[in-house]
Amino acid sequence: MPSFDYDLFVIGGGSGGVRAARIAAGYGAKVAIAEEYRFGGTCVIRGCVPKKLLVYASRFSDGFEDAAGFGWSLSKPAFNWAHLIAAKDKEITRLEGLYQDNMKAKGVTTIAARAVLDGPNTIRLSDGSHLRARNILIATGGRPQIDEAIEGHGHAITSNEVFHLKEQPNRIVIAGGGYIAVEFASIFAGLGTETTLIYRGERVLRGFDQDLRGDLMQALEQRGIRLIMGERITRIDKSSTGLNANLTSGTMLEADQIMVAIGRVPYTQGLGLATAGVATGLKGEVKVDEYSRSNVPGIFAVGDVTDRVNLTPVAIREGHAFAESVFGGKPVRTDYELIPTAVFTTPEIGTVGLNEDTARAQYSAIDIYKTRFRPMRNVLAGRTERTMMKLVTDGATGRVLGCHVLGPDAAEIVQMAAIAMRLGATKAAFDATMALHPSAAEELVTMREKWTG
Ligand code: FAD
Repeated sequence: MPSFDYDLFVIGGGSGGVRAARIAAGYGAKVAIAEEYRFGGTCVIRGCVPKKLLVYASRFSDGFEDAAGFGWSLSKPAFNWAHLIAAKDKEITRLEGLYQDNMKAKGVTTIAARAVLDGPNTIRLSDGSHLRARNILIATGGRPQIDEAIEGHGHAITSNEVFHLKEQPNRIVIAGGGYIAVEFASIFAGLGTETTLIYRGERVLRGFDQDLRGDLMQALEQRGIRLIMGERITRIDKSSTGLNANLTSGTMLEADQIMVAIGRVPYTQGLGLATAGVATGLKGEVKVDEYSRSNVPGIFAVGDVTDRVNLTPVAIREGHAFAESVFGGKPVRTDYELIPTAVFTTPEIGTVGLNEDTARAQYSAIDIYKTRFRPMRNVLAGRTERTMMKLVTDGATGRVLGCHVLGPDAAEIVQMAAIAMRLGATKAAFDATMALHPSAAEELVTMREKWTG
C-alpha cells in the first residue's frame, strides 16, 4: 500500500484551485495547495478584480463631464495614476490575505512555491523537495499569449504588467480584439490616455452578437479611441521618446506603452505533464472529461488550464464539482449552459445565451426584438450615446435564447435575465412581467415589435 503525504495536492492557488482545496478539506481530506506567485490567482491578483477597480476609476471622467448638465460646477478634475495603483495594490493584498486565511481556517496547508509533477502521484516543489499525493489537481490557469511574430515584442507589455506601470502612459497602443484588449482601451481612454486599438480582424469581440460588436466599436470611436482594424503590429522599436509600433500597412504609431492582448494560453509549460503521462491538447491544455479527470487516474484539472470556458465563475464551479465528486461522494458535472458574461468597456456589455447568427443556424425560426435608446441620464448630460438591448427568441416556442445589452449596468441587468432564461422564460413571460419604471432594464419587458431589419 503506497503511503501519501496528502489526499489532495492542488497546483495553483487561483479561483478553481482554492475552491477545490476548501471543499475537499471540508470533507475531511488532508489537502495542500501550492502557489508560485500570489494566492488568489489571476482573477484576484491580475485579472477581474484589479481590472474592475481600474474600470471604476476610468468612469469618473464621464461623471465629471455629465455633472454640469445637472447643475454642478467643478474645478478641473485631476487624476493621479500612482494613487490609484497604490489603492488597488492595497485592496489586492487584503484579498490575498483573506484567501490564505480562509484556506488555513479549513485546515488546508498552503505552500508558497512552484510545484511540478514528477510522476503520477509525485510532486516536486521549487526547493527540490518531493511530496506524494493520492490525488493531484492541476489548476495552473493561463498566461498571456506572446506574439512571437512581432519583431521586438519584448518591448510590449501584457495584462500582467499593465497593473504595475509606474506612470500613466500619455499614449498607448493596444493590440488585440478580445475582451481584455477592448476593456483596457476603454480604461486608458477614460483616464485620459490617447488610445489606439489595433486588431487584425474587421470587428472586435469575435463570437459576440454582431449588434453588440458594431455598436461597441461605434461607441469606442465616439469616445475618442482610434480603432485600426485589419492590421497587425509587425515590429516594435524603441525611440528617444518611447516606442514605435510598425503596422502591416507601413503606418508607424508612436506610443509610451504598447500592450499586446491577443489571447491567453493554458499555463502548462514545464509542469511535468509528459513525465506523469498526462495528455494535452493543441494549445497545451490538459485534456479532461466531464468530471475534470485527465487520462491518468488520480490526476484532475480545472479552470483555464483545461481551456473550456475561461471565466472565474466557471473555474470555481469546476473546482467545486471536482471536490464534490472525489471527496463528497456525489458525482457532479459542471453545467455550461447559459453562462452570462460581461465586457467592462464603457459603455459595457452584458450577454447571455445565443447570439443572433448562432440562433439562426440552430433554429428553424427565430424572432428578434431590439431597441436602441438614449438612457435618461444621458439627456441632461448632453451625451448622445445610446443603449442597445436585444432579445433573440425561438420562433416556435417563444423561448428567450439570447439576451444582449450594451449600455450602463449591462452586466447587472444580464445577470438577472440569465436567471429567467435558466428557468426557460419565454418572450410572453418577459412581456407579462411588470416594468420597473423608470429604469433602463424595463425595456427588456416592454419591447413588443419584432425587428424586421
Ligand atoms: P488562475 O486564477 O489563473 O490561477 C492559477 C494559479 O496557479 C496562478 O495564481 C498561478 O500563479 C498558479 N500557478 C501556475 N503554475 C503553477 C505551478 N507550477 N506551481 C504553483 N502555482 C502555479 N474572468 C471573469 O469571469 N470575469 C472577468 O471580468 C475577467 N477579467 C479578466 C481580466 C484579465 C486581465 C484576465 C487576465 C483574466 C480575466 N478573467 C476574467 C479570467 C479569469 O481571471 C480566469 O478565468 C480565472 O482566473 C481562472 O481561474 P483558474 O483557477 O483556472 O486559474
